[in-house]
Amino acid sequence: MGLLNGKNALVFGLANDRSIAWGITQALHREGANIGISYAGETLKRRVMPLAEQIGCTWVEECDVTKDEHIAATAEKAAARFGKIDVLVHSIAFAGREELTGPYYNTTREGFKNAMDISVFSFVALAKAFQPILNPGASLICMTYYGSVKVAPHYNVMGVAKAALESSTRYLAYDFGPQKIRVNAISAGPIRTLAAAGVGGFRDMYKHFADMSPMRENITIDDVGNAAVFLASDLSARITGEVLYVDSGFNIVGVQMGAKEENRE
Ligand code: NAP
Repeated sequence: MGLLNGKNALVFGLANDRSIAWGITQALHREGANIGISYAGETLKRRVMPLAEQIGCTWVEECDVTKDEHIAATAEKAAARFGKIDVLVHSIAFAGREELTGPYYNTTREGFKNAMDISVFSFVALAKAFQPILNPGASLICMTYYGSVKVAPHYNVMGVAKAALESSTRYLAYDFGPQKIRVNAISAGPIRTLAAAGVGGFRDMYKHFADMSPMRENITIDDVGNAAVFLASDLSARITGEVLYVDSGFNIVGVQMGAKEENRE
């Protein structure tokens, strides 16, 4: 008996088999959820369809979240196929490469707007569009990163966007609370994905993370998937508006010291 048997789950933001969305999709499927997958644009279809086939998912829809009509059409199609939705996962972010290196003050107006629109507003827009077909007890989940609360060099406008996303999570949790619909964020440690490749200095940061996190290891898309199962399931029934860190404990450390200096290894 899976933890999500009989639940209908939609995952937005699948690009390839390295995507966090893929780790989440596989975990939700493993626990018995009926899965729908949404991807950004036609060019991704080639990579997304074989993944959908792997888990026997036949509801695969394009949705560019910058377009209101795409979001409305996706909600309509989801209603037609699933009736009601129990789990909605937002695993989407975008900032131009030029915004993700150098000083934050070089962020352009257009770059700022794009990052906010795609990485933050889209979560609010999806929540609104799907509200009429969300079951009581439904769970909305988005993906964030520690660069929202502390400076992660080069993360720049995306850190600011993640701060807004985490704040949006709390406001949405407040709005949806009376309907018994929960809204939470997962703050994942660095994972090598397409989106991460665009962040300046990501390689070094990834390596540093493994050296410095209390558990001395990087995290995987499967770790995030398992945390998403918890937030999607009734096990987290009274948890809303929270940011759940899946980061080998990296965020709890105030003063970073090398393993050598600490004499732990
Ligand atoms: P990813 O595989 O590249 O996923 C990002 C997804 O966002 C892609 O599917 C991308 O599609 C989609 N997207 C961009 N613009 C879109 C639009 N207009 N409409 C719909 N979808 C759009 O990278 P990921 O690392 O798994 O990212 C997933 C989430 O996890 C993001 O919110 C990211 O910030 C967050 N996160 C990542 C890490 C990490 O280290 N990787 C850590 C913490 C949090 P395209 O490929 O077509 O742009």
